[in-house]
Amino acid sequence: MIDLHCHTTASDGVTPPGELPRLAESQGLSAVAITDHDTIDGVQDFLDAACIDVIPGIELSAQGPNGENIHLVGLFIDHTAAPLLETLETLRRWRDERNMRLLRNIIDTGVDITFEEVSALSDGVIGRPHIADVLINKGYCKDSQDAFRRYLGERAPTYVQKEALPYGKAIEVIHASGGLAIWAHPMARTSMTNTKFKKILADFVAAGLDGVEAYYPEHTITRRMTVEHEAEVNGLLVSGGSDYHGGSRHVGVLPGGFSNGAPLCVPDELLERMKRRIKAR
Ligand code: AMP
Ligand code: MN
Ligand code: MN
Ligand code: MN
Repeated sequence: MIDLHCHTTASDGVTPPGELPRLAESQGLSAVAITDHDTIDGVQDFLDAACIDVIPGIELSAQGPNGENIHLVGLFIDHTAAPLLETLETLRRWRDERNMRLLRNIIDTGVDITFEEVSALSDGVIGRPHIADVLINKGYCKDSQDAFRRYLGERAPTYVQKEALPYGKAIEVIHASGGLAIWAHPMARTSMTNTKFKKILADFVAAGLDGVEAYYPEHTITRRMTVEHEAEVNGLLVSGGSDYHGGSRHVGVLPGGFSNGAPLCVPDELLERMKRRIKAR
């Protein structure tokens, strides 16, 4: 059992990077990857705490071929590579700008919230979940669903689109740091039809994509199989993970992955295939 998609306190997770390997081990996993949003700040602590196989990674926010917001996981990255660090600096700036504009819009609706209250909840990269937590703590929203629906999500009147890396650039920077570029949760949104998925995938493949996440909590069994099928057709690696942030999600566990509702685990062989692919290139 493995988990190739986990967040820590370096972005919007709850577990410190140095505790993730131990936590994964306690869940019976043989390998775990750190994939924080747009930052490698947790990677060194994570690697230093290795007690099982640990994979340095990242989850980059990027823009798809039609301007859609997509995420690319980079696995086996060198977290000291200069092109990667340079790109992350730009992403950090875009994120800061977006957070400030988003907060401004929310304040303009009469909500009493400050940047200090938001940044106090973060040890690293600040994201919308941190703003959601302040809105919940101060009684403006009942839970994060509510906060995203009313203030933070794409359909909220206060929403601000973050400037994003073009997908080709994101794949390029993952490759420049020696990593494998994986399209994260490609079919997690119900609006992603099979046709759209295949069309976007073709563009990603042309840009050098290495793999796709098939194993993912929000993927139905049918969707997982669609992703696995397209991976095979396109000669892509298959990846997967829990997208652990804390709360009700657990490292290594994909709830309801079987038709009887039992949790699904990510098989070890996916990782072995990745390692073979890296060796072969
Ligand atoms: P950001 O990186 O600031 O754009 O925030 C994106 C993060 O917000 C995602 O990685 C999720 O952790 C979280 N998120 C996105 N949409 C929702 C939602 N509808 N409800 C709860 N959390 C969400
Ligand atoms: Mn997140
Ligand atoms: Mn994601
Ligand atoms: Mn994630």
